[in-house]
Amino acid sequence: MSKIRIYTLAKEVGVENHRMLEILDGLGVQYKSVSSTIEEDTVELIKQILAEEGTQVTGGQVEDVSPTVDAAEPGTGPTSAPATAAQPTAPAVTAPPEPAPGQMSSEGRPTPPAATATQVEERPAATATTELPHRAPVVTIMGHVDHGKTSLLDYIRKTKVAAKEAGGITQHVGAFEAQTSKGRIVFIDTPGHEAFTTIRARGANVADIAIIVIAADDSLMPQTREAIAHAQAAKVPMIVAINKIDLAQADPDRVKTDLTQLNLVPEEYGGDLVVVPVSARSGEGIEDLLEYIILTAEIEDLRADPKGEFAGVIIEGKVDKQAGVLATVMVQQGTLNLGDFLVVGEKYGKVKAMTDTNGGRIKSAGPSTPVQVLGFSEVPDSGEKVVAAKNEHAAREIVQARASDRRDVENARVRSRLTLEEMMGS
Ligand code: GDP
Ligand code: MG
Repeated sequence: MSKIRIYTLAKEVGVENHRMLEILDGLGVQYKSVSSTIEEDTVELIKQILAEEGTQVTGGQVEDVSPTVDAAEPGTGPTSAPATAAQPTAPAVTAPPEPAPGQMSSEGRPTPPAATATQVEERPAATATTELPHRAPVVTIMGHVDHGKTSLLDYIRKTKVAAKEAGGITQHVGAFEAQTSKGRIVFIDTPGHEAFTTIRARGANVADIAIIVIAADDSLMPQTREAIAHAQAAKVPMIVAINKIDLAQADPDRVKTDLTQLNLVPEEYGGDLVVVPVSARSGEGIEDLLEYIILTAEIEDLRADPKGEFAGVIIEGKVDKQAGVLATVMVQQGTLNLGDFLVVGEKYGKVKAMTDTNGGRIKSAGPSTPVQVLGFSEVPDSGEKVVAAKNEHAAREIVQARASDRRDVENARVRSRLTLEEMMGS
């Protein structure tokens, strides 16, 4: 009979999308994404599981991705997509893997004898303590020149960034944080592939999700293909934003067909590519885009330990005439604190001052937080990795070890060249 999309069901019963996916995994139901549809009997089974679990909404322990989502108004959210655009649904529902009575479960606890289908997992307190907290997604926007990357970022910044603090000067720092009703999203706002590729070239991956912007009146262009190739190479999930749908000559269907030729099949054609029509001019569709970013982040299940070892990446660095060297650091894990020592390459510095992307002074910053740091002696390059040291002595030791490693490599190279020259008789 009728089918329902996974995220619609999640909303309906008030659980997080990734929890819903866990249940489906437990049931052995196959799906491509949270927008895949599931059969009615599976829905019944899920509802039964949740009812017997006695737990509904998780609430509370999720930091960035709020599980309590208001039901979308009909016709506004992505849920308005026609339910008929069904994807191949999972075949038969199989029973969950059921450990034999007395057998140890994966957590090392003995399984109670009368294990039933409802004991997919205990929750929420039991799992919350062992799992790392969620972190906000870091998003990059790529696409062909003039397709509207800057306009899209500007629109989001204008409408979704909390008013800057009194006295704070909002300047370009390479990233900003958008607050949506469903959670925080961090945007890298040096659009274009340069930022993405230079960062990747240094071995760092900073973006969790790539938005590929394609103008509805222009469709796929050379840099669009490049952007897609970059996202694929980095194995970063893509969301396509078909921009400029306000234009009379907009032809979003052509864009979708062109994407299909690249083997990127939009959901409504039965594939798993999320495609969102938007207008950076009127703002149409941008709420949907943000919602899809949150949904994608939930599936990716992004987590980081704020109490773990600090790791970060330089987004960009510059010299400010008054302040000196300023660098935007993306905290990837751990927490950066005022007074910490940071090591970048063979240099170190002390965090003398830290501001958030709104220009407000802060004392510490956790995962997925871009911060502007004062305290480097030279301008670090974007994409350089940042680690922390307990004190100046430890920082100097890291730097010295790196310098000596580098000299070893250089010497080995010189030696091998000399041998080669001897062999060649020069
Ligand atoms: P970028 O090169 O990808 O950063 O593109 P820009 O954001 O600079 O936009 C290029 C041009 O397209 C500018 O003149 C924008 O005003 C225009 N533009 C961007 N988004 C839209 C849109 O949604 N609708 C219309 N009509 N024009 C847009
Ligand atoms: Mg631009």
